[in-house]
Amino acid sequence: MKRIGAHVSASGGVENAPLHANEIGALAFAFFTRNQKRWKSKPLTTNNVDGFKQNCEKFGFKPEHILPHDSYLINLGHPENDGLAKSREAFLDEFQRCEQLGLKYLNFHPGSHLHKLSPEKCLGRIAESINITLEKTETVMAVIENTAGQGTNLGFQFEQLAMIIDRVENKSRVGVCLDTCHTYAAGYDLKSRQAFEDTLSRFDAIIGFSYLKGMHLNDSKKELASRVDRHESIGKGTLGLEPFQFIMADPRFEEIPLILETPNPDIWAQEIELLYGYAAEA
Ligand SMILES: [Zn+2]
Ligand SMILES: [Zn+2]
Repeated sequence: MKRIGAHVSASGGVENAPLHANEIGALAFAFFTRNQKRWKSKPLTTNNVDGFKQNCEKFGFKPEHILPHDSYLINLGHPENDGLAKSREAFLDEFQRCEQLGLKYLNFHPGSHLHKLSPEKCLGRIAESINITLEKTETVMAVIENTAGQGTNLGFQFEQLAMIIDRVENKSRVGVCLDTCHTYAAGYDLKSRQAFEDTLSRFDAIIGFSYLKGMHLNDSKKELASRVDRHESIGKGTLGLEPFQFIMADPRFEEIPLILETPNPDIWAQEIELLYGYAAEA
């Protein structure tokens, strides 16, 4: 079955995230395990951890249906030593939090070269950051998200994601999350049936479906290949409803978290209902 959810708030404590997900009829969810705008965060308390696990159990959320997202401050390919060290430290903390919470995945954006490093060197640095983190942790998988390629963000071409994966030593602990808005903004068309199939075939040939651990379902405010990352509510942007109907009817997206990061939380419940409707029709 399809597991649709949204990136819900964890305000008041991570234990509230599964409650918020349940309130909107979600069968999957994403959240931040720490304040995503700060470098330092208080450690999780026993209450946070136990409460989170109890609420997940209560509402039937399994670790493979939960896709925590890391802080936007982290740049695993940072060209400068200080920035890189700070990023790696924070990334390790994010991993450790996920392990404490009994989670399986951590979703993150690869990194940015900031015009100070070649894209190739930056990708190598990102892979090295992942290797270092995997060595220091035990269970959580590094789930790399494709980007829109805004500014100097890397990971907007499937080849770039493949290059990172290629250099990660433990292939059993690396995966990919595809964001529909980012995919489209990066120049991969999804709008017609043919374009959708072509893009997925390219993904399969260059990366491989076995690496796909989650999706972000977002419409886009900007056009194909705009390289601008602006999410829109489902069906209200340049993608329209069709690509989401294709996804809901496609068996390749069963049992992985399908997460809305659309800009209006007030209509998440309706968006989820709409998408489940498409899945039921298929
Ligand atoms: Zn993201
Ligand atoms: Zn995303």
